Amino acid sequence: MNSTSPPIAATLIPGDGIGPEITAATLEALDALGAPFKWDQQVAGMAGVNACGDPLPPACLDSIRSSKLALKGPLETPIGGGYRSSNVRLREEFKLYANLRPARTIVPGGRYDNIDLVLVRENNEGLYMGYEHFIPIDGDPHAVGMSTGINTRQGCRRIVHFAFEYALRKGRKKVTVVHKANIMKALTGIFLETAREIYEAQYKGRLEFEEVIVDACAMKLVMNPWQFDVLVTTNLFGDILSDEIAGLVGGLGMAPGANIGEHAAIFEAVHGSAPDIAGKGIANPIALMLAAAMMLDHVNRPDLGDRLRKAIDATLNVDQVRTGDLGGKASTREFTAALVQRI
Ligand code: NAD
Repeated sequence: MNSTSPPIAATLIPGDGIGPEITAATLEALDALGAPFKWDQQVAGMAGVNACGDPLPPACLDSIRSSKLALKGPLETPIGGGYRSSNVRLREEFKLYANLRPARTIVPGGRYDNIDLVLVRENNEGLYMGYEHFIPIDGDPHAVGMSTGINTRQGCRRIVHFAFEYALRKGRKKVTVVHKANIMKALTGIFLETAREIYEAQYKGRLEFEEVIVDACAMKLVMNPWQFDVLVTTNLFGDILSDEIAGLVGGLGMAPGANIGEHAAIFEAVHGSAPDIAGKGIANPIALMLAAAMMLDHVNRPDLGDRLRKAIDATLNVDQVRTGDLGGKASTREFTAALVQRI
């Protein structure tokens, strides 16, 4: 594909809180790059509730069904009213089974330098699915809380394959499977067992393989994160470890994520709508910009993805233009203007 290729249809959901501010900044960067996307803008989250009483309006779902590709700002889940998280619903609706969360040091001199690791989280199964209920006893309606986790062989195979293939494609050396099979012998035992089988059958000799129990993994990530390369794990462990990994590289403002399925992919910042700073013009747009760079990789334009990543690097480290969360003084607009100069 080259710059004369036809435009690629994509859904754009600016989202809530700081979402519209960081989305505008990201679009400016993508325009400067000459990125090939033709956007269909839609609302979801609180913006969807305000526009039409629905946090995931049918028009938004139809748009993603048609484009199979979306860039999404953070969505606020309305409290009360029985709403389920729009983010979880999107993952279910489009079977976005792989959540890809890379973490790379961009601003050196923090507590950890030269971090470059990727967490692959199973996104559709496990203990995260909210199959939950209370059992009332003796007048206490919440006397017992129960949660049911489900992992399937098919789901484990899919995500483990994804992680190994991703590692090969990106020239990575090692895949670490993170589990708790010593205690949760069925739920995470099936995950570990499947990872071992697939490695032995298809990837031995091409990649290194390692097994780590989740609690030890959390400790090792703090003590010596450089020992890891690609990590693959179940939904809830991945949810927790991916925020830990974001913390190694400067926090949520620097953490992008991709939700990938066989038929659709949605790219987003890991952080939420940051209501405490919304509308102030000070949000760090880098996480969403890095998500847009992953989206460019996904549509076979890694050349543009790399240009965007290099421009972010240079703006932060050569020009020293940084937003407040990174210890700088730049507004979202000032950072974006400096970045566009670097593109
Ligand atoms: P949050 O990530 O919005 O904010 C946590 C802290 O990090 C805040 O102090 C915030 O100001 C700061 N922060 C986050 N992003 C930043 C950025 N880009 N630049 C500078 N500072 C930034 O988490 P929260 O407050 O727990 O959640 C707020 C809302 O977002 C909730 O409604 C939650 O459900 C939603 N949420 C959505 C997503 C998503 O759409 N993927 C993810 C997480 C939370």
